[in-house]
Amino acid sequence: MSLLTASVVVTPDRVLRPGWVRIADGLIEAVGHGVAADPTATDLGDVVLVAGFVDVHCHGGGGYSFGDGADEALRAADLHLSHGTTTVMASLVTGPRARTRQQIEVLTPLVGEDRLAGVHLEGPWLSAAQCGAHELAQLRAPAADEVDELVGLPAVRMVTLAPELPGALDAVRRIVGHGAIAALGHTDADHTTTAAAIDAGARHATHLFNAMRPLRHRDPGPIVALLDDPRVTLELIRDGVHLDVAVCAWLDRSVAADRLVAVTDAMAAAGRADGRYALGDLGVVVDGGVARVEGTSTIAGSTATMDLLFRSAAGDLSDPALLRATAQTAGNPARLLGLTDRGRLAPGTRADLVALDATRLEVRRVMRAGAWVTTS
Ligand SMILES: [Zn+2]
Repeated sequence: MSLLTASVVVTPDRVLRPGWVRIADGLIEAVGHGVAADPTATDLGDVVLVAGFVDVHCHGGGGYSFGDGADEALRAADLHLSHGTTTVMASLVTGPRARTRQQIEVLTPLVGEDRLAGVHLEGPWLSAAQCGAHELAQLRAPAADEVDELVGLPAVRMVTLAPELPGALDAVRRIVGHGAIAALGHTDADHTTTAAAIDAGARHATHLFNAMRPLRHRDPGPIVALLDDPRVTLELIRDGVHLDVAVCAWLDRSVAADRLVAVTDAMAAAGRADGRYALGDLGVVVDGGVARVEGTSTIAGSTATMDLLFRSAAGDLSDPALLRATAQTAGNPARLLGLTDRGRLAPGTRADLVALDATRLEVRRVMRAGAWVTTS
């Protein structure tokens, strides 16, 4: 049993100033307000203690991509863990069918061991008009047999697809039937097609605004349909590069608090210096922390980590801002994945914690399943 005290503890519905968390056997046993009267308590000091971050869209970090092999995937996960991400989904970019299958199979044991929360297939069933950093020649329509072969693998938890492709609505039903989340993204769809895909079972928007047809007053594209339907959760890459801060602030104000999900969409360069990297088969150049497909202006994933996104959402560190940041970085993505055992500081959940210094919100310590993974 251990007892941690901190100047700020953020629960799903309340900010405790100060607060404490009691941990036993890797689980949170109790959370309380005030100063714990226990001489054995560990005082974390002037920190904001929040639930471990959950990133549902991440391609790699620390110089490694999730598609490169099991060791590389663990190293990428470790880089993000050191930045507070205690649960990460491995996103795979578009590739040939056999290679994607092989990548999923390599990652499957890591999902079984809970080192990864699952695999997210971002492609190959994406729009050529909104392909972003996906290899154009590999994009294709979702044939039923390919969907069943790849999404039928139990490690696959989420699939991003463009609903306007031939067979896409059938694919949405198949994805849901396999128990995975159907996400809409990299899409040139109109409003009607997007709404039809949501009715068919799609429940998530992959990086809202990025790599999708823009909103115009007589041609709303997918964005209005996605924003409008309360069944849909919405990814935001709120790294200061992919979305203007005013767009993030508007979404924070106007969208229900349980619908926004901060994602990094990080690629291998996250946590590393500027330079040349790979995203699938594409060359990527990182300059000033911004990743672009080599020789183009196309943004190719981010170099963000979840702590940066937390800072973006936490604004002025007021109670509402801290509750919002915690919901977007932990509670909402955990709920999206159906992970009831994490994503919030509450009794009975896994002891996944991040201690952020109380002024700059930089990561001080990270705990996963009751064990500290970094120390200061
Ligand atoms: Zn991505």
